[in-house]
Amino acid sequence: MARVMNWQLGREMSYWYPESRPNKQFAAVFDTNKCIACQTCTLACKTTWTSGRGQEYMLWNNVESKPYGFYPLAWDLKLLESLEGGKWTGRKYEGQTIFEQAPAGERVLGWRPESQDYAYPNVGEDDCTGQIDGGASMAMPHMNWFFYLARICNHCTYPACLASCPRGSIYKRPEDGIVLVDQGRCRGYQECVKGCPYKKIFFNPMTGTSEKCIACFPKVEQGIQPQCFVNCIGKIRLAGWISKPENAKPENPIDYLVHVKKIALPLFPQFGLEPNVYYIPPVHVPTSFTRQMFGPGVDDAIKAYRNAKNDPDLASLLCLFGSSEMVMPRWKRQGDTVSGLDEKGNTLVKVPMNEPVHVRAAYDKLYQISRTNCP
Ligand code: SF4
Ligand code: SF4
Repeated sequence: MARVMNWQLGREMSYWYPESRPNKQFAAVFDTNKCIACQTCTLACKTTWTSGRGQEYMLWNNVESKPYGFYPLAWDLKLLESLEGGKWTGRKYEGQTIFEQAPAGERVLGWRPESQDYAYPNVGEDDCTGQIDGGASMAMPHMNWFFYLARICNHCTYPACLASCPRGSIYKRPEDGIVLVDQGRCRGYQECVKGCPYKKIFFNPMTGTSEKCIACFPKVEQGIQPQCFVNCIGKIRLAGWISKPENAKPENPIDYLVHVKKIALPLFPQFGLEPNVYYIPPVHVPTSFTRQMFGPGVDDAIKAYRNAKNDPDLASLLCLFGSSEMVMPRWKRQGDTVSGLDEKGNTLVKVPMNEPVHVRAAYDKLYQISRTNCP
């Protein structure tokens, strides 16, 4: 095994292949506080990529309600039970990753779901940890809670699917870091399904090969955000490119949220894959739960996010989510307006930080009707 640097762990770790980062790494930030679990993203993906035979149970994008929702069943709990993890000293991870804890003769600590585990995509949906007493929802954090977690493939820097494949059928594109399966090479051994801790690679029994989220690469190649991003009703998603922390550029929106403000965090960084989808954690959930999920930066992230009203740059950048179908590699704020820019600094979109408010007359003389204004 090679020694590679995983900045999310604050240390080197063992991986099956030497460190080989792409020229650019596709990345995303999801704001969990804005997701309404409408599943429009799920359907946008389903109708684009997985409507064929053998793909019936495939949800390259899914949205689950935590803590009781999972797809497939108990995907995270099963691994957390066997991983000797959880030990952080400050921002350094002292526990084992799934590569370091691989059983003898195997490349990754993993498990393969049964068919039944894919049978309940909506299990736990909207299930709260308990009943909320009248008025208790005004306190933070909530004593009883749930939140929505939208999930796609993380296009990991150190993919476990790729490391697990004995055929070398899975590859990471050097131009954008997107992880793909070579359908011509794949022989359906399903080691990738066993290896991916996020269970974001699926076996198609009709074709006998594995299939996974492709980050809508034909769109990304044209500078357009993927289907689940542009169709997101809650405007929770922003696609872009991430740098290593030492090369972070504040004018890059993803770098700014992940490296500068540190409000967007990886999902289960302790697994060791350096996943490239980052989550703004839910502000109403006790951090004893979310710390295990998003790492030790959760408390500071929530503090910074809740302070956005006093931080015009951060507040303006949050307005760019869902504002354009184009990937915006740069951004800038001018007064009360935020702009998404292309690589050359040309404006792709301009968004006002404050929406205009129109109060209409209660009685419309023209149409002779009464109207009610919602405050
Ligand atoms: S479309 Fe957006 S708001 Fe709706 S479930 Fe998906 S991520 Fe959440
Ligand atoms: S999330 Fe899973 S399928 Fe996607 S790159 Fe990482 S290990 Fe592979």
